[in-house]
Amino acid sequence: MCDNQVSYYIPKGYDYREVFVKCGNTDHHGERAICDTCHKNPEIMQHIKNQEANIAADNAWARSAGYGEY
Ligand SMILES: [Zn+2]
Repeated sequence: MCDNQVSYYIPKGYDYREVFVKCGNTDHHGERAICDTCHKNPEIMQHIKNQEANIAADNAWARSAGYGEY
């Protein structure tokens, strides 16, 4: 994750609109936007994987405790 912007093309009418999401933020699909530079960096990808595993563990804990998902 860095300060790069990841660009997406979103269909709008007969046209496309380009939107930018900062690397590491959530895109319009609800998924994490990762720029090409980070995609090519195994260390960063591993870091992101670890982070998502932590989030999943937190959600599992919250569900079992009856708090629902974050
Ligand atoms: Zn990046």
